Amino acid sequence: MRVGILGSGQLGRMLALAGHPLGHSFSFYDSSASSATVGLGECTVASFEDIEALKRFAGQCDVITYEFENVPCAAAETLSSIRPVFPPARALEVSQDRLVEKEFLQGLGIGTPRFRSASSESELREACEALGLPCIVKTRRFGYDGKGQARIDDLADVARVWKLLNGAPLLVEGFVPFSRELSVIATREQGGQVCLYPLSQNEHIEGILHRSELPAPDVTPKLKKAAYQLISSVLEELQYVGTLAIELFEVRGEVLANEMAPRVHNSGHATIDCVASSQFENHIRAVTGMPLGSTEPTARAVMFNIIGRIPALDQVRDLPNARVHLYGKEPRPGRKLGHITLLNPSKAEEDMVNGLTSER
Ligand code: AMP
Repeated sequence: MRVGILGSGQLGRMLALAGHPLGHSFSFYDSSASSATVGLGECTVASFEDIEALKRFAGQCDVITYEFENVPCAAAETLSSIRPVFPPARALEVSQDRLVEKEFLQGLGIGTPRFRSASSESELREACEALGLPCIVKTRRFGYDGKGQARIDDLADVARVWKLLNGAPLLVEGFVPFSRELSVIATREQGGQVCLYPLSQNEHIEGILHRSELPAPDVTPKLKKAAYQLISSVLEELQYVGTLAIELFEVRGEVLANEMAPRVHNSGHATIDCVASSQFENHIRAVTGMPLGSTEPTARAVMFNIIGRIPALDQVRDLPNARVHLYGKEPRPGRKLGHITLLNPSKAEEDMVNGLTSER
């Protein structure tokens, strides 16, 4: 089948790299072309508001999916009048607005950080007073990698944060004193079968994912069950098709859902090298109507992102258990340029790669 992907960045690249061996071909659509998908399929460069270009693109594809959640819902609707679009439009709607997302999760009985919405400086102050300080303030829309976010420790910060976030509609959350951050990733296929990946444990530097370990260590059966139940209920409620990721906080042995991504996720990149069917492969399997493959881990994997600049990799390339993935993108501060996955690494190997990748 020809799979159309909205977006042409590294997630599109890894989807196509997983899908080509299954016999599929790929076309990309993006508002500006990315070098990450060059050679993996043609890219239509046009605005997501360009109805004619969207229709022409849909006509070239058998099925359409996306690699980022800020695809305008109207574009997804235009496309879905011509070809199947997976995951469903409702998954986009829910995950594009942090308030709608938190209300959706709560409606399914899933624990989240305590939250309030705020549309004015005085509402922001009231929300902080009601939730208690510290609070984490997030723009409802278009936040990623810690952007569009601020912390309030003192009510005297309210005016500054309101200005900093440009008076955008806000979600205000009580600060969660989590012991760690985890994520759960699963894929649901068109017949409703679900496969669950081992949980990952995630560490961020300056709001951007730095390290993911998969399977996450020391996960109690209770924690695992809670994470799998919550993602299964979201998949079922949305009649989801494709790969979904939910970011979690572990706090006092319980999990709270922080955010969902209706797509393949950075914390699942290690699945390329440590399970038979990666999050990318199973996403392509799901959207093209193929059965899902195994998600059993064959190794303990630790992934480090390469952000902003590519370090000297000679030492890493000498390790037989290291897998280096570069995305073919021009270095730029804060940009995700690649990742390194270490399989069953020693402490010394991890420390070496950690050192190389934590300077940005
Ligand atoms: P997000 O954009 O919601 O994924 O948030 C980015 C990062 O900010 C998370 O990975 C956490 O490290 C931190 N964070 C977000 N929300 C909270 C919260 N309510 N309490 C504590 N830390 C948070």
